[in-house]
Amino acid sequence: IAEGIWYPKGGFNRVLQSLETIAVKYGAKFNYNNDVQEIIIDDKGVAKGIKLNNGDVVNSDIVICNADLVYAYNKLLPKTPYAEKLGNRKLTSSSISFYRSMNQIIPQMSVHNIFLSEHYKPSFDQIFKDHTLPGSPSFYVNVPSRVDPTAAPEGKDTIVVLVPIGHITSNPDIDFDKLVERAREQVIDTIEKRLNVSNFKSMIDHELINDPRSWQNEFNL
Ligand SMILES: Cc1cc2nc3c(=O)[nH]c(=O)nc-3n(C[C@H](O)[C@H](O)[C@H](O)COP(=O)(O)OP(=O)(O)OC[C@H]3O[C@@H](n4cnc5c(N)ncnc54)[C@H](O)[C@@H]3O)c2cc1C
Repeated sequence: IAEGIWYPKGGFNRVLQSLETIAVKYGAKFNYNNDVQEIIIDDKGVAKGIKLNNGDVVNSDIVICNADLVYAYNKLLPKTPYAEKLGNRKLTSSSISFYRSMNQIIPQMSVHNIFLSEHYKPSFDQIFKDHTLPGSPSFYVNVPSRVDPTAAPEGKDTIVVLVPIGHITSNPDIDFDKLVERAREQVIDTIEKRLNVSNFKSMIDHELINDPRSWQNEFNL
């Protein structure tokens, strides 16, 4: 931390692309857009390959799995008491994340911008005890285009807003569509008031969103 944070030009995905390029150079083959349905285990408990969603089986000497641990033990490997124990562990918070392309540079924003709730302690209780979006949420805004000119076209900004929220529970009263909408409004309102930016909303050209449902459904987290 004393030395700051290293940022890969082009974003973190560039690191993956570079690893892929090096691996391909050494003969690795990548198979994308095919979910693993199951890790095949022999009767001695040794992993022998994987079964894909399309039914294909890939036999191998070694299986390396870096999907989320709780998911992998509960969905990809045969059920065990250990998997069940993992599934009952206390989970950390989740997030609503907005990825925005802005139609202009927002000079009031630096590369890292932290907006703390005016009701700091209760806001964390709402995340970790009530598993919801705090009434007054804290949030973090990262502006990669402030340090990386490849992150946005000239004269524009790219921003990522991360709003911590409780993880998914069986509580039927939690309506994520409504919470995402409230988070969007509160983030815009706070940025406008605290940074003295007028009509921040109109500067948003395009927006992608991840919330606890997409972390679960698309990323198996
Ligand atoms: C909102 C959020 C913010 C974060 N912020 C930070 C941060 O600021 N700093 C930090 O250090 N860390 C942060 N993290 C954590 C960081 O993202 C993870 O620690 C890191 O991505 C783990 O890398 P990994 O390669 O082990 O797993 P992952 O990045 O999770 O990669 C696992 C891959 O496996 C794929 N996969 C899962 N299931 C299957 C399947 N059945 N078949 C095929 N593929 C599958 C997934 O699609 C994914 O691509 C954050 C995480 C989240 C969700």
